Amino acid sequence: MPHPAERPDSANPIRARATVGDFELTILSDGHYFLDGGAMFGVVPKPLWEKRAPADDQNRILLGLNTVIVRTGKHTIAIETGIGNKLSDKLRAIYGAKEQLPHAFAAAQIRPEEIDIVINSHLHFDHCGWNTTRTPDGLIVPTFPNARYFAHRGEVTHGRLQLERDAVSYISDNYDPLIESGQMTLLDTKPGQIEEIIPGISVECFPGHTAQLLAVHIEPGGIDSSRKGSGGPHACYISDLIPTSAHLEPTWVMGYDLDPVTCIAERKRFYQRAIPEEWLVLFTHDHHTPIGHIALNEKGKPVIP
Ligand SMILES: [Zn+2]
Repeated sequence: MPHPAERPDSANPIRARATVGDFELTILSDGHYFLDGGAMFGVVPKPLWEKRAPADDQNRILLGLNTVIVRTGKHTIAIETGIGNKLSDKLRAIYGAKEQLPHAFAAAQIRPEEIDIVINSHLHFDHCGWNTTRTPDGLIVPTFPNARYFAHRGEVTHGRLQLERDAVSYISDNYDPLIESGQMTLLDTKPGQIEEIIPGISVECFPGHTAQLLAVHIEPGGIDSSRKGSGGPHACYISDLIPTSAHLEPTWVMGYDLDPVTCIAERKRFYQRAIPEEWLVLFTHDHHTPIGHIALNEKGKPVIP
């Protein structure tokens, strides 16, 4: 039986296209997957969240795995790399993982060799899975051989602790081989700090989901260092701070968040710029609404109009 949130276009691996200034954005999908609706909405009662995210008979909701390709004219950047092909058979079945990202690249006529920068917002397995590929003979190789990869050092440190709360989220084959070969650069971005990767692409640390979650700013005009909205067109991949457009309400944070109280404060901090500056917001796990502009409704609540 199809999931109640499946639509005729659900299998399309190209989820959206957009332009931001003279940068071209293509949103590719590693395929939709399923997670427990209760875990995705924390303390929010099901009668409220299921209006926005219908659940199947196992209480699972349908989520996307969105990779954003940015072509700047000089560089081709991949933000996030889905679940990948390294899960055990059991976990692949539980999540309904599709392993679709290579097909999505082919459909969009983008070769993995063209990617020269990969940015991981954090190192949970559903965000960096195709950093590496497991070959049929069991080797782990970089999926993007010509790319420099970027991730936060704190994510690596945290993943290596293998804590009982979230050990399952960290699969070291997604990053350790890249760190060992020198292909991955580890960042030390502090909370609230913005760090440039290349002109027009920067990361900002928004703690809460994890302690060092990185959002990715796409600003063809360069970083607006005044942070007052004078910088021109702007898109932002906010990752798991706001995983879908059903999570815009500041208090609708996830059961997965390590620090939900910080998430609420950080969402409000994000809205202080994203709404008045009319940023194009890119959602990591929204399969049907991967991009949108946020506005306040008549009750003062953030919505996608
Ligand atoms: Zn996630």
